[in-house]
Amino acid sequence: MNHQHEQIAKYAYENSVFYREYMSGQLSQDEFVFEKLPIVSKEDMVASRLPLCSPKQLILSDEEDIITMSTSGSTGKMFSIEWDRRDFVCSLTELWILRKKYYEIRPNDKMCYFYTINRVGREEALEYRSGHTLGFSKILLNEKRIREIYQKMEEYQPVWMLLQPSTACMLVDSAKKADLVPIQSVRYIELSGEMLSEGQKKKIEKFFNCRVANQYGSYEFNSIAYECPYGNMHVMGSNVYVETLEEDSEENLNEEVTKKEGKEFIITSLKNTRNPFIRYRIGDRGLLNYKISCPCKNHNPVINLTVGRSHNYIECEDGSRINAYIFLRAVDNINLLLDDVVKQFQVVQRAVNDFLVKMYLDDRSQMPEVQEIFEENILEEALKNAKFEYCIEEGYMEAGREEKLMYFRREMGMDY
Ligand SMILES: [Zn+2]
Repeated sequence: MNHQHEQIAKYAYENSVFYREYMSGQLSQDEFVFEKLPIVSKEDMVASRLPLCSPKQLILSDEEDIITMSTSGSTGKMFSIEWDRRDFVCSLTELWILRKKYYEIRPNDKMCYFYTINRVGREEALEYRSGHTLGFSKILLNEKRIREIYQKMEEYQPVWMLLQPSTACMLVDSAKKADLVPIQSVRYIELSGEMLSEGQKKKIEKFFNCRVANQYGSYEFNSIAYECPYGNMHVMGSNVYVETLEEDSEENLNEEVTKKEGKEFIITSLKNTRNPFIRYRIGDRGLLNYKISCPCKNHNPVINLTVGRSHNYIECEDGSRINAYIFLRAVDNINLLLDDVVKQFQVVQRAVNDFLVKMYLDDRSQMPEVQEIFEENILEEALKNAKFEYCIEEGYMEAGREEKLMYFRREMGMDY
């Protein structure tokens, strides 16, 4: 057992309550072989109701040393991920080294970003300045607000920006529409959090006339892969161990699909010792190429994401489109106020102003409060006439075979 992924897997199965009590029953024989360890999913973790940390960590931890990423993620399923501060910093070290090597970006360079939720409670700050960063809330983003943000960015003079592709495109569209010039101080834009299309990348590069790189990451792992200047998404070899899921042939309906869309990624965190993720099914699909010789001299395998977290917009009665993040944020707030009552949710837009809100709750009796907070958080003017119908689910909702359960879905014009 010399490899890091084997070491951390062993550590997890010996120490983590979840792996010890829940997953170890699935271990084959006495031998501990990494490649034979069961594949773990978020569903297993939630269903077990067991902590991912060790009994010792449960009792002895100092709150100050823990970073909690509390999120519903893109799938709508509620989940908290904890990191020891030291591991968290370690998990980002390689990314910082590569940012410097590839794009000359250092940790103390001024940066702008957007956030879904920044502080607890119902009142959300529209901006958040800290250290070398200036963040903007993703709620209430309309043309006027984006122009305002753009102006504030120009005043702030960031060296780089960390954006989601859809937000970056909104910035470009609004700036073009208002005849604004690109922010001169920006030398580099990092795109993360969503699938990035070639078209989006070109559009952003062309407008800002700077280096643009894609970064694939998640709360469980931090950085998973990062694009080098030659366009290859190299796996962050010091932070994660990536495999692809070998589906059995019966389940594998169509070889063409596998050829085109690749296989599901199975990822192991090499750094998160507090919440170990060992052979974890992240839900994204793609191709993994081991035999690559890239001029950047990074020898880590290259990932090509095909089916990942896509993005969706709400259609409003005035013809405008609103980022579906507002629902994610509303549910994040419900959970902050009502002790993680929402286990999973999905909003379906059936027509203009007509939404079906499906929720799986820990305690059904809290539905009236859940509804109240949910609607209080939908602050958009364009949705002031929106009607929400609620449906309490008996358990977790299932996604189809080829896709994740998205927290928002637009099914306008369909029969109900
Ligand atoms: Zn490369």
